[in-house]
Amino acid sequence: MPPLIKIPEYNQISTGTRGVIKREKTESLRGAGAISPEHNFCRDHMPEETSSMGLFQKYLVNKNIFRNREVLRHSYRPNILPHRQPEINSVASILAASLKGETPSNILIYGKTGTGKTACVRYVADELEKASQETVIPCHVIHLNCEVIDTQYRVLAQIAKNLEDHDERPSDGTRGTIPFTGWPTDQVYMELKNLLDSVGGVIVIVLDEIDKLVKKSGDETLYNLTRINSDLRDSKVSIIGISNDLRFTDFLDPRVLSSLSEEELVFPPYNAPQLCDILQQRSADAFMEEVLDPPVIPLCAALAAQEHGDARRALDLLRVSGELAEREDEKKVTERHVKLAQEKIETDSMIECVSTLPTQSKVVLYSMLLLEHIGKKIFTSGEVLQVYREVAGTLDVDVLTNRRITDLVSELSMLGVINTRVVSKGRYGRTKEMWFDMTSDRIWEVLSKDQRLSRDTLIQLDTNRLKASFR
Ligand code: ADP
Ligand code: MG
Repeated sequence: MPPLIKIPEYNQISTGTRGVIKREKTESLRGAGAISPEHNFCRDHMPEETSSMGLFQKYLVNKNIFRNREVLRHSYRPNILPHRQPEINSVASILAASLKGETPSNILIYGKTGTGKTACVRYVADELEKASQETVIPCHVIHLNCEVIDTQYRVLAQIAKNLEDHDERPSDGTRGTIPFTGWPTDQVYMELKNLLDSVGGVIVIVLDEIDKLVKKSGDETLYNLTRINSDLRDSKVSIIGISNDLRFTDFLDPRVLSSLSEEELVFPPYNAPQLCDILQQRSADAFMEEVLDPPVIPLCAALAAQEHGDARRALDLLRVSGELAEREDEKKVTERHVKLAQEKIETDSMIECVSTLPTQSKVVLYSMLLLEHIGKKIFTSGEVLQVYREVAGTLDVDVLTNRRITDLVSELSMLGVINTRVVSKGRYGRTKEMWFDMTSDRIWEVLSKDQRLSRDTLIQLDTNRLKASFR
């Protein structure tokens, strides 16, 4: 039987203007009308002759604001890094040893998020690889993000995979490819050593967000990697660890720490004028000419400097401001857009944080939303406890002690999900009152994505009875 829906076929892939690949459509959705009445309904409401492009067209034509939005993304790698020359020089001075065939000292780099650690190390790494092409000593830099690659096995397998790309010598047949799971660690190490020697020269391994690796999997990987040189014949390995968390060394064995931190480097936060320069330099490529009102960049910089001198936040503010202006079909980005962008980013990150809360915190939060839902704009800890017990019972989760609930409430307040204040009730002592900002709708939305808190389950709760008991 032929399939009911025929997927449109594309042929004649041709390159249009500006190198964009254009595909000519040769077949439309044949027989789509035979699928279900709903489809006919949709058709009736659509203009006769629509190409799929029509839906997106109007969002593509607004070229008033951005020249190239990608320049403002975190992943973009700028060639110029203002205010980081001293740090770049420090890293370069240490890695320079590799161009003489010596093993560079291991480096531990610290600094808060958005202080340019990744950008600077990647920049120096590229320069080093280029410079080594002018020498007889091959130098390779392998950059791993340990937020994703967070176990010893994955780290080793990924290093091996990158090395295979650099290995120009023909395999002698004794080498196998390390699979992404399954081998014993000893065997992975053995294979990795063979690969390192086969590639030869100096190999710098950057473990970016190293704190995540250590917190997830301990320091065994680092212990092994910092000792690997004694087993190598034709190659030398040096490690750069990059951490956002200044205190992560508490998790390290002192021996690991001392070999890893032969050199230490701290990236200080940026101040507002420095952030201004960074934004200025990026905005030239990102925006069309004269679309930014003069106060826009200083305001983005000032807001991000208050945060903790975070270039990432500054770039986000600028990009989101531009996007809001674009969506409003404005010709200019103004201070108002920056303020809106700040609000949006804050709400978004709060929502993100709610979605990753542990179940019990979600149940507590859910109880608060119910209270708000039945008309209590401000509620007390006692009331939250009462509803919590009902909800926890209905959901069949463990009912926590009052003390634990109080802790979870404080945590929610600290995360900025709820507001709290302590009020004196005269001779009844003091009690905590809490309420939501305007964002409770979005919190509902996020919570109801959690299977357990779906509306179906909670429909079993008798809200009328709750209402009566809070009258
Ligand atoms: P970190 O690794 O410290 O969290 P990143 O290196 O990822 O910070 O920087 C975050 C963003 O800010 C990236 O897009 C990066 O290009 C940009 N950035 C950071 N410092 C500078 C700088 N000095 N000049 C230009 N862009 C920078
Ligand atoms: Mg980084």
